[in-house]
Amino acid sequence: MKLSFSGLRALVTGAGKGIGRDTVKALHASGAKVVAVTRTNADLVSLAKECPGIEPVCVDLGDWEATEKALGGIGPVDLLVNNAAIVIAQPFLEATKEAFDRSFHVNVRSVLQVSQMVAKGMIDRGVAGSIVNVSSIVAYVTFPGLANYCSTKGAMTMLTKAMAMELGPHKIRVNSVNPTVVLTDMGKKVTEDAAEFAKKLKERHPLRKFAEVEDVVNSILFLLSDSSASTSGSGILVDAGYLAS
Ligand code: NDP
Repeated sequence: MKLSFSGLRALVTGAGKGIGRDTVKALHASGAKVVAVTRTNADLVSLAKECPGIEPVCVDLGDWEATEKALGGIGPVDLLVNNAAIVIAQPFLEATKEAFDRSFHVNVRSVLQVSQMVAKGMIDRGVAGSIVNVSSIVAYVTFPGLANYCSTKGAMTMLTKAMAMELGPHKIRVNSVNPTVVLTDMGKKVTEDAAEFAKKLKERHPLRKFAEVEDVVNSILFLLSDSSASTSGSGILVDAGYLAS
């Protein structure tokens, strides 16, 4: 399916690496103007070389005031991908307040904040829009040592539904993608830290594999596009069948 986003402006968070970076590239290649938001400036510099014309924004999305400053005047946005997230692996009994707060600030609170800014702009302009929250299968099943992270993605399920309910009357759709492990920097770190678990986990997937970045990006683009015009408050599993097993 060849999708065109020509004439539309998209904002992607966590744009520096992994899934966010390839989402920016795909949207740019499909004709969208893209605002790329991430924390490490060097990633934005290299991304801007690959995708001339993107608008780079360097900010820590876990910092409410800095995000307000960086994105408060962002202007019209038609498509939003809330992709930035962190994993702080800790056994439940050793989970700290700092890790819990930081995980929720980056993975959930920033979704609320950035979506509010973008949705208010869509409503003011009277245009339709689409928002995709990058979640995970851990919104539905948990893995050891990831209580904080799993909780943030569980919260994202209801945040997605709440946004879909309240923004739907304004013709703004909100959905999630829920991948299994993807071997980005994040995926590599988590699987390398628990190599034996990861090996067994992969074998439990009916397709006997993890997901590729491209698989996730394709689902994001589908949900952003009019090809999913009647889908909202929903989630696409990109899980190699894991939740069916
Ligand atoms: P990566 O760690 O490879 O990339 C994440 C990107 O988000 C980086 O560019 C990172 O910047 C940025 N980011 C993180 N924290 C912040 C912050 N506070 N402010 C601004 N930018 C930030 O992750 P993935 O591409 O693997 O993950 C993307 C999404 O996919 C996440 O929501 C993740 O939860 C989800 N996901 C990933 C899976 C996996 O196995 N990889 C599986 C299921 C879901 P920097 O590096 O500079 O910190």
